[in-house]
Amino acid sequence: MNWTPETVAARRSELEALSAEELVEFALETFGDGLVLATSFGPQTILLMDWIARLRPQTEVFYLDTGLLFEETHALRRELEQRLGIRTRPVTPLLSLEEQAETFGSELWSRDPEPCCFLRKVLPLRRQLQGKQAWMSGIRATQSADRAAASMIEWDETNGLVKLNPLLDWTREQIDARLEARGLPVNSLLKQGYRSVGCRPCTVRADGQDEGGERAGRWAGFAKTECGLHRRPTRPGTAGEPQPVGESR
Ligand code: SF4
Repeated sequence: MNWTPETVAARRSELEALSAEELVEFALETFGDGLVLATSFGPQTILLMDWIARLRPQTEVFYLDTGLLFEETHALRRELEQRLGIRTRPVTPLLSLEEQAETFGSELWSRDPEPCCFLRKVLPLRRQLQGKQAWMSGIRATQSADRAAASMIEWDETNGLVKLNPLLDWTREQIDARLEARGLPVNSLLKQGYRSVGCRPCTVRADGQDEGGERAGRWAGFAKTECGLHRRPTRPGTAGEPQPVGESR
């Protein structure tokens, strides 16, 4: 069965009545190999990885390897792969860091993080989702205003497939309690004053900071609060979305 925006709308209330685990189980059974999980190795996606490892370990789990992730994140990835018995697939930008610097100047992120995220995260995600039926993310409503507007199951208009956010209504405390009960690790940086962990140049400690909530410390000094992966609705080339200058090669 091919899912459409109408299918999602027709089944939303029924599916949103499920628990998070039940929704994951439903998605794994319904979409099979057509479903992928995007992980950032944040606490919520670790919980989803744990469920997937137990329910359908052959499910494709990928992460956006910008070339700028912390070594602590890679160490966590290796530990989780070993503990859960699953593989995670790096999805990389078409431009290497050197090629991006040649085209856009050095350290684009320090001058204008929006096109940098577009080149190193949004476009690689777009390529990765081509041909898939559904993708799953670990976003939660309390993380940001953008995320609070999401649904547990929705139609991803930008990429043209179903998007599932099973943990949308969970709190960070609920996630932490589940991970602790399972004896699963989190990124060691979260115990060192980082509230959310992204790329090295765009993530700083946020201890004692009142503003920014759960994503404080990301893109410090810029109004930007999201990398663009969960922004909705957008279409390629619409206003506000950087053009894929470097992705034509
Ligand atoms: S988080 Fe920063 S370094 Fe990473 S892709 Fe976005 S702007 Fe570039």
